[in-house]
Amino acid sequence: MRNFRTAALAGVATAVLALTACGGDGDTSTDEAAQPSADASASFEAGTTMADINQAGTITIGTKFDQPGFGEANLSGDPEGFDVDVAEYIAAKLGVEPDSITWTEAPSAQREDLIANGDVDMVVATYTINDKRKERVTFAGPYYEAGQQIMVNADNTTITGPDDLKANPDVTICSVTGSTPAENIRQYLAAPGQLVEFDVYDNCVDAMKNGQVQAMTTDNVILTGYVAQNEGEFKLVGEQFTEEPYGIGIEKGDTAFCEFINETLQEMSEDGSYEEAWTATAGQFEGTEVPTLPETAPCS
Ligand code: GLU
Repeated sequence: MRNFRTAALAGVATAVLALTACGGDGDTSTDEAAQPSADASASFEAGTTMADINQAGTITIGTKFDQPGFGEANLSGDPEGFDVDVAEYIAAKLGVEPDSITWTEAPSAQREDLIANGDVDMVVATYTINDKRKERVTFAGPYYEAGQQIMVNADNTTITGPDDLKANPDVTICSVTGSTPAENIRQYLAAPGQLVEFDVYDNCVDAMKNGQVQAMTTDNVILTGYVAQNEGEFKLVGEQFTEEPYGIGIEKGDTAFCEFINETLQEMSEDGSYEEAWTATAGQFEGTEVPTLPETAPCS
């Protein structure tokens, strides 16, 4: 249901920063691809989410605000990155101009709630598709395949991958509550206290900088952004040890909207916008490669 900006927001209002995009010109490490303009000819079957959004001319989208290359707020407060470009492309196909998008910060642990409460129409936020999350939301996509990795200080020679954590119980590793990497890393730890969790990744980066933790783990593409943004300070170690297919989270059971998004992702790939978006955002970081759109999964 498009139950946005109503009483349902109250529960997350303190933790969530909602703002309206205004075509930001802030100074950031990445540039957005050209913003798509709304498809004025878009028309949809009455009663569908697509028709509702198209008629309203607005959409509320959850994304990250602290992840370089995927979703990071610029100096104007507007998020930029690959997720933002993917979301804007879908919005345009729904007939919504970039300026009419309301962006809501979607920290990892809040994504299912934001969707289930109707606070957002969709979440595009480095959001791994998995069975547990599918109990509460429907996923379109995947539109990108990431994998979990570990980041350490550039001069660290002790931790070369997850298997070194048990042998070094004094090393603490940071991740984000409600994320898949925070769960996956537990099996590699000497004791549960070796994992330090925060609500957003920026706090882990700060903890790395002030020496509170000696390692950080999440998806490789997110860590690559922090390595690039903090030149010479951090490095990635070891190979990726999980698969993290990124999906677009929407209200559970809205298969028509899911199928529309999957078709739109296909168009984005075919008309070159997908590659263009990547190149302008996460693709700017050293060590990244232009992805091809993965085969989308059936909607359920
Ligand atoms: N892709 C992982 C997840 O959805 C990690 C990145 C994130 O926390 O957004 O949990």
